[in-house]
Amino acid sequence: MSRRFVLLGDPVAHSLSPTIQDAAFRALGVEAVYEAVRVEAVELERAMRLARSGGNVTVPHKARAATVVDVRTEAVRETGACNCFWTDDEERLCGENSDVEGFRSAVDEFPEARIAGGRVLVLGAGGAAAAVVLACVQGGARRLAIANRTPARAEALARRFAAGATEIGARSAADAMRDDWDLVVNATSLGLSPADPLPMELDAGRVGAVLDLVYGPGGTPWTRHARFRGVPSRDGLGMLIHQAALSVRRWVGLSPPLDVMRRAAAETLAGGESTAPRDR
Ligand code: NAP
Repeated sequence: MSRRFVLLGDPVAHSLSPTIQDAAFRALGVEAVYEAVRVEAVELERAMRLARSGGNVTVPHKARAATVVDVRTEAVRETGACNCFWTDDEERLCGENSDVEGFRSAVDEFPEARIAGGRVLVLGAGGAAAAVVLACVQGGARRLAIANRTPARAEALARRFAAGATEIGARSAADAMRDDWDLVVNATSLGLSPADPLPMELDAGRVGAVLDLVYGPGGTPWTRHARFRGVPSRDGLGMLIHQAALSVRRWVGLSPPLDVMRRAAAETLAGGESTAPRDR
């Protein structure tokens, strides 16, 4: 019998996830469908419990999803966000935050990017930034700064992770720009709209590498700016693929076909009418 997986969010219409997950299921020989379903916040828990095989949760419901699951992984507990769920053998709704591993794996395949022992600047203090900060703390970053439009959110995020060995604090972007960073991560929504300003001007002498969580055909305005300034850069497509891959492992227990998933995403992006960056 075919299994049904869902992506729950609002909006979900332009998501790449169905393309990536359908390609993965086909390659693995798993009989399954993956559907994007727009749900409002009040409908979320019911939709998660009805989708018994499992699914993903996206903007704006990740924080709410973390509160409704019965069992939370460490990544969900630490970040307060859940983007992947399934029902276990004891009928418990289980939640994972695959953005944490997705980010870690994207950095692992980016040779110029360094977390262990490194200095990392995170732009943004929302759900994605929390996943990045957790991955950096777990990955042994020496120093971590968070710069956000709303400083109080950056301060709250810094306080949340302050107990470990990483020196962590909130900074203004203008102030942080005067320091040296091994890696700068854009975890804001800047870049999703063509009219957006860059998240930060880059100076090749100060920044070792940049990773933009936003992605698009041929990269994003910020990764193109980085290339122009001679700073190694990657967009968020790698993270998107890796977080999707962890979902597949959680749901069907098989090793995900990363190359197939990556190809499917790249073809869809290249075939899109717009050259604008995309959300999940
Ligand atoms: P979120 O929780 O809504 O947070 C949005 C962040 O962007 C906040 O820090 C917000 O600052 C900041 N921001 C929004 N508009 C801004 C502006 N005009 N100027 C400066 N800062 C602005 O969203 P999220 O879930 O963290 O997602 C953030 C980004 O990461 C999105 O682009 C999303 O598509 C991307 N993402 C990618 C992946 C992937 O797999 N590649 C995974 C997850 C997320 P304030 O606090 O001041 O509002």
